[in-house]
Amino acid sequence: MTTEPVAVGKCRVCRQKDTSSVLYACNDCVNRLIRIVREIAVYATLVLPAMVAPMRGQTGRMSPGYGSASPARDDVIAALDPRSLPGDVDEHGDAVTRRPDDAGSWVASIPGRLAYIADAIADERDESRPGGTITADADYIRANAWWLGGQSWIDDAVGDLSEIHRQAQDLAHDKPGKPIAGCLTVTCDGQVFWGGIGKSAQCRACRRTYDGLDLVRLEAAQGVSA
Ligand SMILES: [Zn+2]
Ligand SMILES: [Zn+2]
Repeated sequence: MTTEPVAVGKCRVCRQKDTSSVLYACNDCVNRLIRIVREIAVYATLVLPAMVAPMRGQTGRMSPGYGSASPARDDVIAALDPRSLPGDVDEHGDAVTRRPDDAGSWVASIPGRLAYIADAIADERDESRPGGTITADADYIRANAWWLGGQSWIDDAVGDLSEIHRQAQDLAHDKPGKPIAGCLTVTCDGQVFWGGIGKSAQCRACRRTYDGLDLVRLEAAQGVSA
């Protein structure tokens, strides 16, 4: 007999919607997972590489104070390098998917983090998977999104993917300037804003920070109240 809890009740990801009897996540959260994985692949294969590609005829327009090589975007180059893994494991050997508190800036490999999640799925499913590229890893995760919805660790997976997604958005400066949502702290009526590269989203009033799954829940709460 398994001791797994019966997967009926509130979604583990957003904690707002009900799940079907076979899933730990609601349909909206599984669909969101599929969307953010698709967007991560677009950022990592198209948007971010274009930002660090050598540009012709730009040498006269460099900002003062920068050298001639990829001014100021070493962070993008590092994030796209599968071997860039500062902070990739903690002292227990577990993957670190959140920015360490003591790091002023933290760049982890987007392909590396994506492959890690795809590997975790393949391990759990006890199968080999096509790999080797960002697109293959993303496709594999998306193809197993509904299977993931039936796993008790769906919340961790969505939290990690949300972090990767936000890292890619931060690097591409592709985020809205308006507040994300109202703070979830019951006694606070502040608004939560993006914190910038390597920083958490934060409530301007109470300074509560939002990362990973907290950020997913914040955005889900906004969707419900809108
Ligand atoms: Zn949900
Ligand atoms: Zn607040």
